[in-house]
Amino acid sequence: MTTVRTPCGTPRATDAAATMTVFGWVDRRRDQGGLVFIDLRDHSGTLQIVIDAQEAPAAHEAARGVRLEYVLRVEGSLRARAPENVNPRIATGEVELRAAEVTVLSGAKTPPFPVNEDTEVDEQLRLKHRYLDLRRPRLQRNLRARARLSAELRRALHELGFLEIETPQMIRATPEGARDYLVPSRLFPGSFYALPQSPQLYKQLSMVAGFDRYYQLAHCMRDEDLRADRQPEFTQLDIEMSFVDEEDVFAALEHVIPTAWHACEFRGSPLTVPFPRITWREAMERYGVDKPDTRFDMLLHEVTDDVRGTQFQTFGRVIEHGGVVKAICVSGGDDLTRSDIEGRLTDVARGAGAKGLAYLWRRADGWQGSIAKFFSEQELDAIGTNASVQVGDCVLMVADTPGVAAAALGALRNHLGRARNLIDDSRVDMIWVTEFPMFERSEETGGITPAHHPFTMINIEDLDKLETDPLAVRSRAYDIVLNGREVGSGSIRITDPAVQQRVFAAIGIDATEARRKFGFLLEAFEYGVPPHGGFAGGIDRLLMEGLGEDNIRDVIAFPKNQQAQEPMTDAPAPVDDAQLRELGITLLARPPG
Ligand code: ASP
Repeated sequence: MTTVRTPCGTPRATDAAATMTVFGWVDRRRDQGGLVFIDLRDHSGTLQIVIDAQEAPAAHEAARGVRLEYVLRVEGSLRARAPENVNPRIATGEVELRAAEVTVLSGAKTPPFPVNEDTEVDEQLRLKHRYLDLRRPRLQRNLRARARLSAELRRALHELGFLEIETPQMIRATPEGARDYLVPSRLFPGSFYALPQSPQLYKQLSMVAGFDRYYQLAHCMRDEDLRADRQPEFTQLDIEMSFVDEEDVFAALEHVIPTAWHACEFRGSPLTVPFPRITWREAMERYGVDKPDTRFDMLLHEVTDDVRGTQFQTFGRVIEHGGVVKAICVSGGDDLTRSDIEGRLTDVARGAGAKGLAYLWRRADGWQGSIAKFFSEQELDAIGTNASVQVGDCVLMVADTPGVAAAALGALRNHLGRARNLIDDSRVDMIWVTEFPMFERSEETGGITPAHHPFTMINIEDLDKLETDPLAVRSRAYDIVLNGREVGSGSIRITDPAVQQRVFAAIGIDATEARRKFGFLLEAFEYGVPPHGGFAGGIDRLLMEGLGEDNIRDVIAFPKNQQAQEPMTDAPAPVDDAQLRELGITLLARPPG
């Protein structure tokens, strides 16, 4: 049997009369008695095979028993189709292969869902039979795009002199702030490796080692609650550079990402460079979120000063207690009814922590809405000017702490952007958000934690606030935000031991604990450390945006479901007692089953 092989999707009219051998899966089959038609599929496309009982009786006999997804080898000669039989929907539509020989290489059970079309299928079922799901055209496209993206990123990084360095998968815990996946050690019972949440410390150590420019398409693991765009395992474009500041890191990424994006023919190519920049503070003030979707306006406006003397008690009380009033103007929002606003829109605002949502319409005959009567003409005019309100618009306002007012209107803005079709879906906006706060208050513990990680350098102008007002300290961390989704972040790192110690102190890590946890890094820095900084971007999220996919699992070959399980192999799974014993582990309770 010859295996010289013509890919199914490649024969054209110019190849007519050639003899060839094709291999693939049965995509469709029509039996017309003396003639059997089979569309044979491989990764390159489909080709129509004609098996004629007269021309090739043995092949015809074999073809009659064939079912969908059987694997065949077909040898034959290529013919041009009669003009009336040309199929313009497929690339091989002008030709067909007249079979001389058909060999069944593998039978196939009836698949649990159609492989030959992109119908909606329950995702759990798709994940259980992922190999069949992956055979379908959309996931074939996505996984091929993924491989292409990796190759193009590597190419662009090499152009800039980056060196690919692999870092270990079993390590000491990393400081990214999520829960670790742990691997018990057999040789040291009671000790555990952690799976890397990122290669953060290794890439910094690579700078101490003098590699200058590191990269890795790094596999990372974080045990977090899953969301639509999150997986417990994901891949990062991880980079680190020596002797740099923000500008150098930005310039490298503004070369690498757009070059690869363009080569992959992703949505929105070519990307605009340099990526626009906005500070975290501006983002919060204007968009109410730290990952602004800049594809539409509807900016937030602070109207506190415009309504400082208002009769409207709800606003008055908030302002008195140091709060703010912020507004967004919904252009053409005259069509929003009271029940729209008091229903869905108020729910969105409440979901972000607001106590309520105030609203006014500006109509030809003046300002309307149940609260309009509490404001003077002057106050209304001031709101109108400040928030650029035209006749026919609606103003939505939240009075609260600056954080809550911004978050509530930011959430409303995103909601309205989608609901009112304000977003141009063909557009891809990649921006930098800079000067993130160094610390934030942990919702869980109430304590101060690093907003990024504790090796992020602070803005030196804020050094004095480290002990007095840590939450006001700006960092040298930056994010790339793509259409309102964070796709990566990085920072310039701390290389001054005194600053590092003060940052640790601010988050409650004393010198002894710092030595215990990160002593190897701190010690390495004592042997000559170059100033350095880097970035990590989510490959999965970049792909989702580039391909226009909403579900992160559709760009990963073998993803986990929302419960972090893999339905195909049934991971995670219990292990034998003997295995546990060897690891020195006893379970607190026997799992059921
Ligand atoms: N290690 C960081 C992360 O995974 C990125 C960086 O600071 O380079 O988010």
